[in-house]
Amino acid sequence: MKLEEGISLSGQCWYRIGGKASYYARPQSIEDMQQLLDWSHREGQPTFLLGYGSNVLFDDAGFEGLVIHTKSLKGYEQHERGIIEAAAGQNLESLVGEVNDLGLQGLESFVGIPGSIGGAVYGNAGASGGGIGDLVSEVELIEPGGIREWCDGRDLDWRYRESGIGDRVVARVRIRLQPDVDPETLRKESARLLEKKIDTQPFDIRTCGCIFKNPTGMSAGRMIDECGLPDLQIGGARISKIHANFIENVDGKATSDDIERLIDRMREEVRDQHDVELDLEVVLAGTREERTR
Ligand SMILES: Cc1cc2nc3c(=O)[nH]c(=O)nc-3n(C[C@H](O)[C@H](O)[C@H](O)COP(=O)(O)OP(=O)(O)OC[C@H]3O[C@@H](n4cnc5c(N)ncnc54)[C@H](O)[C@@H]3O)c2cc1C
Repeated sequence: MKLEEGISLSGQCWYRIGGKASYYARPQSIEDMQQLLDWSHREGQPTFLLGYGSNVLFDDAGFEGLVIHTKSLKGYEQHERGIIEAAAGQNLESLVGEVNDLGLQGLESFVGIPGSIGGAVYGNAGASGGGIGDLVSEVELIEPGGIREWCDGRDLDWRYRESGIGDRVVARVRIRLQPDVDPETLRKESARLLEKKIDTQPFDIRTCGCIFKNPTGMSAGRMIDECGLPDLQIGGARISKIHANFIENVDGKATSDDIERLIDRMREEVRDQHDVELDLEVVLAGTREERTR
């Protein structure tokens, strides 16, 4: 398996921000991924799993360790009636379109989430119909040392934007869907929800999705709005006018430090004005709140 050195991470994530990874690999098979995890475990290299990078902020200083990019692990098949088995790097948006066409109901509300199925399951991505974990029948997981096994979806600890997968890696996912539904009904529902998303979220600007999780029963975006910080900008990082829980990378000029300083400012204002502590939804990789596996 080819290990590359010094690859720039800004080109590999939605935000277009980030320095270089000491080691970077794009496995072509699950066996490749196992070998990489075995290698990094033996070498004691911090390892970061990267899907489409739509929920990640890399540090401009880069990532010291191995970044495993799942983008080449594509593809899905109908495992049994109503159950789709997809590889970790399968694009979620195209999967939604394709299962809609097959008349399989369940994923239609996950339209407009620009990620991989592995990243979506890891972070229990949410749509109007609930978290993706509700649809997961089984997940094939790889332990840090490379051991691989299927896990029943009911044995995972699904919570808001959390799966309990921890330091394991998602290799394949089985999703349970309702068969024999009219494809046109599913397509229309996806189109309706996508239109709503496009109206309420910045879609054609570089962001990383929502910065903060919504505290129970509250909207982080609304609280930030109420703090009176309309389009506050620090360097190249600006609070989105369309949705205050998104930070935009204006003209591609934001540094990771600009984004983090703006995050700190938003948190402080919400703490002072609402007495609420916001938790991050974006994953900070190789930054102050580093999360590695
Ligand atoms: C415009 C826009 C709209 C969005 N709308 C939504 C939305 O409606 N709902 C929502 O929940 N999110 C939304 N997001 C956020 C993001 O798209 C989702 O969180 C998505 O599921 C991330 O998938 P990814 O493959 O890009 O993961 P990445 O961003 O690459 O990674 C996210 C996390 O998952 C981990 N990970 C990735 N792949 C694996 C794997 N195979 N095994 C183990 N861990 C892995 C990473 O290490 C990281 O911790 C939006 C983002 C944008 C930019």
